[in-house]
Formats: sequence, C-alpha cells, structure tokens
Amino acid sequence: MATVVQKYGGSSVADVDKLGRVADKVVAARREGHSVVVVVSAMGKTTDQLLALAKQVDPNPPRRELDMLLTTGERVSMALLAMAIQKRGLEAISFTGSQSGIITNDRHFDARIIEVRPHRIEDELARGRIVIVAGYQGMSYRREITTLGRGGSDTTAIALAAALDAERAEIYSDVDGVYSADPRVVPEAKHLPELTYEAMQEMADVGAKVLNATAVELAKKAKIAIHARSTFEPGRETLVREDAARDARSVVGQKGVVLVTTRGERALDRATEILAEASVPTRDVEARPDGDGMSSTMTVATSLTPDWEVVRGRLLDELSGAIHIEPGLAAASIVGVDPTATATAVAMARAAGARIRSVVASGTRVSVVLDEPSVDAVVRALHAELVA
Ligand code: ADP
Ligand code: ASP
Ligand code: MG
Repeated sequence: MATVVQKYGGSSVADVDKLGRVADKVVAARREGHSVVVVVSAMGKTTDQLLALAKQVDPNPPRRELDMLLTTGERVSMALLAMAIQKRGLEAISFTGSQSGIITNDRHFDARIIEVRPHRIEDELARGRIVIVAGYQGMSYRREITTLGRGGSDTTAIALAAALDAERAEIYSDVDGVYSADPRVVPEAKHLPELTYEAMQEMADVGAKVLNATAVELAKKAKIAIHARSTFEPGRETLVREDAARDARSVVGQKGVVLVTTRGERALDRATEILAEASVPTRDVEARPDGDGMSSTMTVATSLTPDWEVVRGRLLDELSGAIHIEPGLAAASIVGVDPTATATAVAMARAAGARIRSVVASGTRVSVVLDEPSVDAVVRALHAELVA
C-alpha cells in the first residue's frame, strides 16, 4: 500500500471546526486505500502566542526551555486530530517527534534532523492505523527536546516522507500553492503550477514562508515531490520537483532584517565566530578590501533568532567601534534573474521611495536591503516590472 504524507499548517487546524474538516480529508485519503501519515502544526497562531508568553517572563528566553514550551503547541493539535479521526470510526494514533524517531542535533530553536527512525510509525501503519505526528520537533542524541526552526512542520513532513519512502508529500495551507509573490502583498501574483527545488529553495531562503527552506532542501536530496495545496479550496496545486520547467521568476519580501557591518579583519573574524556560536543564520556575507584591512556586510533575519538582543549585545560589547548594527530593515529579492537585473531592481526601489542600504546580486537572485516600511511597495513595483 502506497504511503502518503500529508501536512496541515496552523491555519488549517486553527479551531475545532477546521480540525474536523481536516479529519474528514484524512479519512477520505485512508478510504482511497493509502497508508496515511499526517503531520500537524500548532493551532492558528499558537506558536507566536507561546513565544510572546515566554518573552513576558524573559525578553531573551533560554532556547532549551523555549523548545520545551513551543513543542506543546503541536502536541495539542496531534491529540485532537487523532481523537477527531477515531470519532469518525477509523483507527488513529498520535506521536510526538521523539516518538516518531526524529533525531536532531542539539541546536535548540533551529535544530537539524540527523536521522529518522520511524519504527513505531511503520508498525502502526502496518496495523492499518492512521498516524498523526506533531510537526516541528525532534529529540537530540542527548534526549533533549528540540524544534526545527519556524515553519518546521514542513521539514517533519518531508523527512518522514523520505524515511518512509512515501509516494508523495502533500503540504496543505491557506494558499493553493506557490505564487510569483506573496498574494497577500501582490494581489496579481501568478500561480506557479510547477517549480524546481532550486527555485523554491532560493525563495524560501530569502523569506517566502509558503514552504520551509530546510524542507525543500531535504525534498531535493531525497527526490520527494512536494504538492503544495490549499486545505479548504481544493483545485490547483504547485508541484515542486526535479524536472520542473525552469523559468519561474518571483519576488520575495522579508521584514525584520538587520544589516551588520564590520571594519577590520579582527572584527570580521570575531563577528562571524560570535554569530556562528550563537547559531544565528547570516545571509549575503560579503567581505572586501578596505585600505590595508577588510570590511564586511551581512544580513541577519531576526525572526529566526529569539535571543537576537543578547547576541547583538555581545557583538557590540566585544567589537565596539568596529561594528555597526542597523535594525529596522527589510529585504526585497527577485529570484530567477541574473545580475543584469540589478540596475532595474535598484531603479525600481528608488522610484518606490526606498532608502537602499545594500544590494547583492548572485547567480540567480538580486536582493535589495532597504528600510522596512517601504518593502511592500518595492515588492509590488519589482513584480510589476520584472514578473507580470
Ligand atoms: P502554514 O501555517 O500552513 O504552514 P504559512 O503561513 O507558513 O502556512 O504559509 C502560507 C502563507 O505563505 C500564505 O498565507 C501566504 O501569505 C504566504 N506566502 C508568502 N510568499 C508566498 C508565495 N510566493 N506564494 C504563496 N504564498 C506565499
Ligand atoms: N508551529 C511552528 C511555527 O509556527 C511550526 C510550523 O507551523 O510549521 O513556526
Ligand atoms: Mg508554514
């Protein structure tokens, strides 16, 4: 019997009524004859609410305890969904990430999956049961509970699809796939029926939260096709796979970006060390000659770092005078273009009134870092000029 992994995001299980409708969909998939594994996210905005609760206690909460707290969100939805399915007369059992055999490193808040040993899931599937798994979580070799980074339920789904040799992974959310820009920001964004792993990964890396970047990376390695669909409005989908048409262009905006600038070789070395020690993901790190020494710039997406203020304090304490940290920024990126699009991107951003702070062009992407309030207007302008 072919195994299908379905993942339902927070908005799909936001209340008991929606949870019931998800249970109906899961039951239908089981009745079609599939072995079904369902990965669920926390209900609605639960993860944000738990994070806010922690910040009321400590503005820079310790990451281990944060993981203990945040993983409870997904446990609530997994248990409720298992109950809803059992109520409909089918057998279902829920498992946490650790019970599902998801083994990670010990980087709390942003752990990486090292290994998946899904024996308990396989046993239950063999008994004909539907298995519900709490997304976004695992257990380290030291038996510590970890989380997989924001949006990490997608990662759980793909990791399980690979480990169970599933026929496909279906990621259900409140949009019917991936668009050429966030349709909430650009209403005329185009639906993309197909996308390569590379294009999707680049979009996710620069902040398109429709699919998690690590999940796409895992899917690429394991050659798992991702079907991104809407939970409650079935019809279209986006298929992310290896041999998709390679022409998709898109525009991505990301808020909460900080620009770090260093002067001098020592500042570059120490800043990158401190950021790595604190597991802060950096992007577009660029170092260049500056007189006899070197200066550098890099961007940090603070939404990925719950204790950013602590790290910022450490950088300023140790490197004062040689480091500048500018908050309140955003990045607007065009994916699927070559560096010749840079001039247009800069001109469009200026015309939209943005205060440009840095520009980076790589093989298939141009990113403009600018003041946060202007990012939505710039994304719309770039989309109108370069994609529509
Ligand atoms: P879930 O909670 O189900 O995981 P997410 O909120 O993580 O769902 O992702 C879905 C959201 O991603 C959509 O509501 C949409 O606003 C946003 N999004 C951002 N960029 C895109 C894009 N290029 N295409 C589609 N949706 C996008
Ligand atoms: N609930 C987690 C989050 O909000 C994981 C997920 O939704 O995928 O980031
Ligand atoms: Mg998500």
